Amino acid sequence: MNRLPIIREFMELVEIDVASKNERVIADVVTKKLKDIGCLVYEDNTGEKIGGNTGNLFAILEGTREGALLFSAHLDRVANGIGIKPKIVGSKIVSNGTILSADDVSGIAAILDGLRKVVNSKKSHPRIEILLTVCEEKGVSGSKYVDYSQIKSKIAFVLDSPGRIGRVINAAPSKASLNFEVVGKSAHAGNFPEKGVNSLVTAAKVLSRIKDGRIDEITTANWASIESLSPTNVVNS
Ligand SMILES: [Zn+2]
Repeated sequence: MNRLPIIREFMELVEIDVASKNERVIADVVTKKLKDIGCLVYEDNTGEKIGGNTGNLFAILEGTREGALLFSAHLDRVANGIGIKPKIVGSKIVSNGTILSADDVSGIAAILDGLRKVVNSKKSHPRIEILLTVCEEKGVSGSKYVDYSQIKSKIAFVLDSPGRIGRVINAAPSKASLNFEVVGKSAHAGNFPEKGVNSLVTAAKVLSRIKDGRIDEITTANWASIESLSPTNVVNS
Protein backbone atom coordinates (compact mmCIF):
# COMPACT_ATOMS: atom_id res chain seq x y z
CA MET A 1 0.00 0.00 0.00
CA ASN A 2 1.68 3.17 -1.18
CA ARG A 3 0.60 5.72 1.41
CA LEU A 4 2.16 9.03 2.25
CA PRO A 5 4.20 8.96 5.49
CA ILE A 6 1.93 11.64 6.98
CA ILE A 7 -1.10 9.38 6.44
CA ARG A 8 0.64 6.42 8.04
CA GLU A 9 1.75 8.51 10.99
CA PHE A 10 -1.71 10.01 11.46
CA MET A 11 -3.24 6.53 11.56
CA GLU A 12 -0.56 5.31 13.97
CA LEU A 13 -1.19 8.20 16.36
CA VAL A 14 -4.99 8.05 16.37
CA GLU A 15 -4.82 4.38 17.35
CA ILE A 16 -3.18 5.34 20.65
CA ASP A 17 -5.74 5.54 23.44
CA VAL A 18 -5.87 9.13 24.66
CA ALA A 19 -8.17 11.25 26.79
CA SER A 20 -7.88 14.63 28.42
CA LYS A 21 -5.61 14.22 31.49
CA ASN A 22 -4.46 10.88 30.08
CA GLU A 23 -2.09 11.82 27.28
CA ARG A 24 0.87 9.78 28.63
CA VAL A 25 1.28 7.27 25.83
CA ILE A 26 0.90 9.66 22.90
CA ALA A 27 3.18 12.17 24.65
CA ASP A 28 5.89 9.51 24.99
CA VAL A 29 5.52 8.41 21.37
CA VAL A 30 5.59 11.99 20.08
CA THR A 31 8.53 12.90 22.33
CA LYS A 32 10.55 10.08 20.79
CA LYS A 33 9.60 11.18 17.30
CA LEU A 34 10.59 14.77 18.03
CA LYS A 35 13.94 13.66 19.47
CA ASP A 36 14.58 11.44 16.44
CA ILE A 37 14.00 14.48 14.23
CA GLY A 38 16.62 16.37 16.24
CA CYS A 39 14.54 18.43 18.65
CA LEU A 40 15.21 19.12 22.28
CA VAL A 41 12.04 18.17 24.15
CA TYR A 42 10.89 19.36 27.55
CA GLU A 43 7.80 18.31 29.45
CA ASP A 44 6.46 20.61 32.17
CA ASN A 45 4.64 19.57 35.34
CA THR A 46 1.17 20.70 34.24
CA GLY A 47 -0.11 17.15 34.69
CA GLU A 48 0.35 17.42 38.46
CA LYS A 49 -1.40 20.78 38.54
CA ILE A 50 -4.52 19.67 36.68
CA GLY A 51 -4.82 16.12 38.01
CA GLY A 52 -3.53 14.50 34.84
CA ASN A 53 -0.62 12.19 34.04
CA THR A 54 1.15 14.29 31.39
CA GLY A 55 2.58 17.76 31.03
CA ASN A 56 2.71 20.09 28.04
CA LEU A 57 5.52 19.29 25.62
CA PHE A 58 7.80 22.06 24.43
CA ALA A 59 10.25 21.14 21.70
CA ILE A 60 12.93 23.17 19.98
CA LEU A 61 14.61 22.60 16.66
CA GLU A 62 17.53 24.97 16.85
CA GLY A 63 17.67 27.43 13.99
CA THR A 64 20.40 27.71 11.42
CA ARG A 65 19.54 31.34 10.89
CA GLU A 66 17.87 34.21 12.75
CA GLY A 67 14.27 34.19 13.82
CA ALA A 68 11.83 31.85 15.51
CA LEU A 69 8.49 30.32 14.60
CA LEU A 70 6.07 28.46 16.85
CA PHE A 71 3.75 25.64 15.83
CA SER A 72 1.20 24.29 18.26
CA ALA A 73 -1.37 21.51 18.57
CA HIS A 74 -2.95 19.62 21.44
CA LEU A 75 -2.29 16.06 22.53
CA ASP A 76 -5.71 15.23 23.97
CA ARG A 77 -8.97 14.62 22.18
CA VAL A 78 -12.68 14.75 22.92
CA ALA A 79 -14.38 11.82 24.65
CA ASN A 80 -14.84 8.50 22.82
CA GLY A 81 -11.24 8.63 21.65
CA ILE A 82 -10.28 5.16 22.90
CA GLY A 83 -9.96 2.14 20.63
CA ILE A 84 -9.98 4.09 17.39
CA LYS A 85 -9.51 1.93 14.32
CA PRO A 86 -9.10 4.23 11.34
CA LYS A 87 -9.46 3.00 7.81
CA ILE A 88 -9.19 4.54 4.39
CA VAL A 89 -12.38 4.63 2.35
CA GLY A 90 -11.91 6.20 -1.03
CA SER A 91 -10.13 9.48 -0.47
CA LYS A 92 -11.09 9.71 3.20
CA ILE A 93 -9.83 8.36 6.49
CA VAL A 94 -12.79 7.29 8.60
CA SER A 95 -13.33 5.74 12.03
CA ASN A 96 -15.56 2.90 13.06
CA GLY A 97 -18.03 4.15 15.66
CA THR A 98 -15.52 6.20 17.61
CA ILE A 99 -14.34 9.70 16.89
CA LEU A 100 -11.52 9.89 14.34
CA SER A 101 -9.48 12.31 16.44
CA ALA A 102 -8.40 14.37 13.48
CA ASP A 103 -8.81 17.06 16.14
CA ASP A 104 -6.00 17.34 16.85
CA VAL A 105 -3.88 14.40 15.68
CA SER A 106 -3.92 15.92 12.20
CA GLY A 107 -2.17 18.94 13.71
CA ILE A 108 0.45 16.79 15.41
CA ALA A 109 1.03 14.74 12.26
CA ALA A 110 1.38 17.88 10.15
CA ILE A 111 3.92 19.34 12.56
CA LEU A 112 6.02 16.17 12.59
CA ASP A 113 5.86 15.93 8.80
CA GLY A 114 6.79 19.58 8.41
CA LEU A 115 9.74 19.26 10.78
CA ARG A 116 11.14 16.31 8.86
CA LYS A 117 10.75 18.18 5.60
CA VAL A 118 12.65 21.14 7.05
CA VAL A 119 15.48 18.95 8.34
CA ASN A 120 15.69 16.87 5.16
CA SER A 121 15.74 19.94 2.94
CA LYS A 122 19.10 20.94 4.47
CA LYS A 123 18.06 24.54 3.92
CA SER A 124 18.60 27.19 6.56
CA HIS A 125 15.66 27.75 8.86
CA PRO A 126 14.78 29.79 11.92
CA ARG A 127 14.49 28.28 15.39
CA ILE A 128 11.33 26.19 15.31
CA GLU A 129 9.39 25.83 18.53
CA ILE A 130 6.70 23.22 19.04
CA LEU A 131 4.15 23.46 21.80
CA LEU A 132 1.89 20.45 22.32
CA THR A 133 -0.56 21.07 25.11
CA VAL A 134 -2.56 18.68 27.27
CA CYS A 135 -6.19 18.88 28.34
CA GLU A 136 -7.20 21.37 25.66
CA GLU A 137 -10.65 19.87 25.37
CA LYS A 138 -11.45 20.62 28.99
CA GLY A 139 -11.21 24.36 29.31
CA VAL A 140 -7.84 24.67 27.56
CA SER A 141 -6.47 23.73 30.99
CA GLY A 142 -3.02 22.70 29.82
CA SER A 143 -2.11 25.89 28.00
CA LYS A 144 -2.93 27.94 31.10
CA TYR A 145 0.20 26.54 32.75
CA VAL A 146 2.63 26.93 29.87
CA ASP A 147 5.76 28.90 30.76
CA TYR A 148 5.42 31.47 28.01
CA SER A 149 8.77 33.05 28.90
CA GLN A 150 10.52 30.11 27.20
CA ILE A 151 8.93 30.96 23.84
CA LYS A 152 11.04 33.18 21.60
CA SER A 153 8.68 33.20 18.61
CA LYS A 154 6.61 36.26 17.91
CA ILE A 155 4.53 34.37 15.35
CA ALA A 156 2.62 31.18 16.06
CA PHE A 157 0.61 28.78 13.93
CA VAL A 158 -1.93 26.73 15.88
CA LEU A 159 -2.95 23.72 13.85
CA ASP A 160 -6.37 23.13 15.34
CA SER A 161 -9.30 24.21 13.23
CA PRO A 162 -11.65 22.69 10.69
CA GLY A 163 -12.47 24.05 7.26
CA ARG A 164 -11.03 23.96 3.82
CA ILE A 165 -7.31 23.33 3.38
CA GLY A 166 -5.34 26.54 3.53
CA ARG A 167 -7.82 28.44 5.65
CA VAL A 168 -6.12 30.67 8.21
CA ILE A 169 -7.93 32.18 11.17
CA ASN A 170 -6.17 35.29 12.33
CA ALA A 171 -8.70 36.73 14.72
CA ALA A 172 -11.35 35.52 17.11
CA PRO A 173 -14.06 37.21 19.13
CA SER A 174 -13.34 37.92 22.74
CA LYS A 175 -15.15 39.64 25.54
CA ALA A 176 -14.23 41.99 28.34
CA SER A 177 -16.57 42.57 31.27
CA LEU A 178 -16.64 45.73 33.31
CA ASN A 179 -18.20 45.94 36.76
CA PHE A 180 -18.16 49.24 38.53
CA GLU A 181 -19.52 50.50 41.79
CA VAL A 182 -20.64 54.06 42.23
CA VAL A 183 -20.62 55.21 45.84
CA GLY A 184 -22.70 58.24 46.81
CA LYS A 185 -23.60 59.80 50.12
CA SER A 186 -26.81 58.91 51.92
CA ALA A 187 -29.15 61.49 53.46
CA HIS A 188 -32.86 61.69 54.22
CA ALA A 189 -34.50 62.34 50.88
CA GLY A 190 -37.29 64.48 52.41
CA ASN A 191 -35.52 66.41 55.13
CA PHE A 192 -31.92 66.87 53.91
CA PRO A 193 -31.64 65.96 50.23
CA GLU A 194 -28.93 68.60 49.74
CA LYS A 195 -26.66 66.66 52.12
CA GLY A 196 -26.73 63.58 49.93
CA VAL A 197 -25.08 62.57 46.68
CA ASN A 198 -27.24 60.21 44.67
CA SER A 199 -25.13 57.33 43.35
CA LEU A 200 -27.84 56.15 40.96
CA VAL A 201 -28.08 59.54 39.26
CA THR A 202 -24.28 59.69 39.12
CA ALA A 203 -24.15 56.23 37.52
CA ALA A 204 -26.74 57.32 34.94
CA LYS A 205 -24.66 60.39 34.10
CA VAL A 206 -21.55 58.23 33.69
CA LEU A 207 -23.36 55.73 31.46
CA SER A 208 -24.85 58.50 29.33
CA ARG A 209 -21.33 59.58 28.43
CA ILE A 210 -19.98 56.15 27.51
CA LYS A 211 -20.77 54.91 24.03
CA ASP A 212 -22.66 51.64 23.82
CA GLY A 213 -24.17 49.54 21.06
CA ARG A 214 -21.94 49.42 18.00
CA ILE A 215 -18.68 51.08 18.92
CA ASP A 216 -16.89 50.51 15.63
CA GLU A 217 -16.76 47.99 12.80
CA ILE A 218 -15.58 45.15 15.02
CA THR A 219 -16.65 46.17 18.51
CA THR A 220 -19.97 46.23 20.32
CA ALA A 221 -20.77 47.14 23.92
CA ASN A 222 -23.74 46.49 26.12
CA TRP A 223 -24.49 47.63 29.67
CA ALA A 224 -26.49 44.69 30.95
CA SER A 225 -27.64 45.49 34.46
CA ILE A 226 -27.70 48.14 37.11
CA GLU A 227 -28.64 47.48 40.71
CA SER A 228 -29.68 49.80 43.47
CA LEU A 229 -31.19 48.75 46.77
CA SER A 230 -31.94 52.08 48.42
CA PRO A 231 -35.33 52.79 50.05
CA THR A 232 -37.36 55.62 48.53
CA ASN A 233 -36.83 58.04 51.43
CA VAL A 234 -33.04 57.91 51.35
CA VAL A 235 -30.78 59.66 48.86
CA ASN A 236 -29.24 56.69 47.11
CA SER A 237 -25.71 56.09 48.28
ZN1 LIG B 1 -8.80 20.87 18.90
